[in-house]
Amino acid sequence: MSKRLSTTSSSPDRSKALFRRVPSIERILSRPALHSLANTFGRQAVTDATRTLCAELKRAVTEGLTEEELEERIRALDEAVGEKLREEIRASLRPAINATGIIVHTNLGRAPLSDRAVDAISEIARGYTNLELDLETGKRGSRHQHASHLLSRLFPGKSALVVNNAAAAIMLSLNTFAAGKEVIISRGELVEIGGSFRVPDILERSGARLREVGTTNKTRIADYEQVIGTETGVLLRVHPSNFRIVGFTESASTEELAELGRERGLTVIEDFGSGNLLSLAPFSLPHEPTVAESLASGVHISIFSGDKLLGGPQAGILVGDHAAIETCRKNPMARALRIDKLTYAALEATLLSFVEGKATREIPVLRMLSAPQSEIRERSERFIASLGDTGQLELAIEATTSRIGGGAAVDAEIATYAISIVDPSTPAQKIVTALRAHRPPVIARIRDGRVLIDLRTVAEQDEPSLRTAIAAL
Ligand SMILES: *Cc1c(COP(=O)(O)O)cnc(C)c1O
Repeated sequence: MSKRLSTTSSSPDRSKALFRRVPSIERILSRPALHSLANTFGRQAVTDATRTLCAELKRAVTEGLTEEELEERIRALDEAVGEKLREEIRASLRPAINATGIIVHTNLGRAPLSDRAVDAISEIARGYTNLELDLETGKRGSRHQHASHLLSRLFPGKSALVVNNAAAAIMLSLNTFAAGKEVIISRGELVEIGGSFRVPDILERSGARLREVGTTNKTRIADYEQVIGTETGVLLRVHPSNFRIVGFTESASTEELAELGRERGLTVIEDFGSGNLLSLAPFSLPHEPTVAESLASGVHISIFSGDKLLGGPQAGILVGDHAAIETCRKNPMARALRIDKLTYAALEATLLSFVEGKATREIPVLRMLSAPQSEIRERSERFIASLGDTGQLELAIEATTSRIGGGAAVDAEIATYAISIVDPSTPAQKIVTALRAHRPPVIARIRDGRVLIDLRTVAEQDEPSLRTAIAAL
């Protein structure tokens, strides 16, 4: 047992006596190890870190730190100052383990990339590239050529343009076709999509004026027809990707809208959000319209994200009629919203998986989406067995659901199994916080007082880290 100077751990006399053992800041700073830290981090940073650690030491003393513990920590101060300084400059963007079962989790960076996409990034990142060089002529080329050939493969007869994200694509297309004019949109589609991205706000920033038609639950094609006038620039359809109005509803079909637009010489744009290139039906999920279906309905431009169901990097993809896409490309705003070579590298690799028909095997989002419930159960059982003795932690397996998330296929719930963790003496909230404090952080969810770990969204190579995090509880 540790010896204490006084029986009451927080007695002021005891604290005072121990405070005197803490060396002065000057003394600590004169240690050789701190000199060398000052060369790396600067004298001021070293002084500040030392002060903070000394203040922490004194606080620990008042909270009952023993004499031996104090001596030990004073000896280890050099090490602690170095650790603190390195911690302060650590990258703030770090890998995390997503145990929530939400596949496209916006707060966790949406789609994890395929190995192919990661390899492509590292290959392109390391050196120079032909980003804007035409290798045949040796003259300046356009970066917009990249990825376009693959998108045209996937959508024959269509042209494509890639910008920073879907919000940028909406902004660009509306600015191109409706600046100073009206955009007609159904009231039922004026949605807010995560991170306070509100369709009406984007609409206005593009320089277009909003013209709402219909009611929240009902908008007929005649409603659009009625308000079309000389001021109209665009008919916009926004896919309700993160909510659904159910019950007494009616909306004009995309075909009707496209036909009306073409008749009246107006550009028809569909904001798709999720960007699923494949039908979800084979995964036993409710049917979500695919990009090909959107284009087949006759809209001029279809817009979708690169990092939702497509499973690639953050990007906003516009696919559509050649003339409409070309007009967008020539808008100077396209320059401000352009993407970087690393994004092209990852996007081309991702699209290639689709072109070659290997998407469900190679793209993590689609692999997670299609993993059968039985497979998740087996993995969970193996995982629990591999943990061995977990003390008072009670681990079990329970049936629950995973979700696609990220504003894609709202209703879709995928049957799964989760590992539940209960510690009779610790509230679930505390366990979740401890898991999040682990390195790498583990993000889990709570259901009815139990912490749930859904292995559907945990990569196999992350299982050892997850094991360490749970063992540390
Ligand atoms: C997610 C989503 C967006 C925004 O996409 P970003 O790529 O994040 O900009 C826009 N519209 C819809 C319908 C969406 O689901």
